[in-house]
Amino acid sequence: MTCKRRTFLTAAGCTGLLGLSTAQVSSQSESDLSRDSFTLMSGTKKATNVYVTKASESGPTALVVSGIHGNEEAGYAAAKKISRWQIQRGTLVTIPKANAEAVAEDARTADDGIDLNRQFPSGENPTTDLARDIWGVVEEYDPDIVIDLHESTGIYDGDMIGGVGQVIFTSWDEAASSDAKKATDYLNENYVSRDGYEFSVGAFSPPSDGLDGLLTHKAARDTGALSFLAEVTSQDTVLDKRVQWHTKLVQQLVEEELLTTSGDEDKNEDKNKGDNCEITRW
Ligand SMILES: [Zn+2]
Repeated sequence: MTCKRRTFLTAAGCTGLLGLSTAQVSSQSESDLSRDSFTLMSGTKKATNVYVTKASESGPTALVVSGIHGNEEAGYAAAKKISRWQIQRGTLVTIPKANAEAVAEDARTADDGIDLNRQFPSGENPTTDLARDIWGVVEEYDPDIVIDLHESTGIYDGDMIGGVGQVIFTSWDEAASSDAKKATDYLNENYVSRDGYEFSVGAFSPPSDGLDGLLTHKAARDTGALSFLAEVTSQDTVLDKRVQWHTKLVQQLVEEELLTTSGDEDKNEDKNKGDNCEITRW
């Protein structure tokens, strides 16, 4: 499965390198897409929507998840925009409010106190109904790329103690780390203006260090998907800026495969957008 997956991504990459003409790209219209949505955990406080955008041309599948921690607002604000993107090929699946009950309470976890991002053990069944439903989406759509959006109050400096913001953590995979490096370089050049806020790339911790149960770990280890966990910092950074970072990171990570034509609407905006404005702390 991994070989087929890699072949598909390589083939997609080659088409990207050959280049589609501007005319082809601009001819994309909403009618070339099918949009669908359905609800997980329907009828419960955890009910949450899954959005599926399919291009008429076949291609890779990307899954974007956010709101696994309910107080990380930038992720689900970005994913809401992403769920409406137009794509040229393949399939884009989005779960903006994975932990909808926690989102409604603006808290990391719902009242049950369960950290949703520890319920996806590698090689085993997920440990809660919600985690099993979310994993069911992974099994149904078999994504080539999985991206999970998070926020931290600090900035990563090599250990987890001071926070983990401004990093894309990736699967132990040369393709994933190289894609993440390209995305962070692009962001740092175009959307980061303050010293100390540059994005970097980190690798998932190995299973031996005890941190297990993350959705992206399981996706990488059990399915071979290229997996990314993106963390932006809320330290002295307004919501708009954090949403912009997440949106641009996802765009960079998927555009070669899905040829996204949306998400570009603010390409020429000021890179300082959201910097040095109202300070947000939480
Ligand atoms: Zn988080």
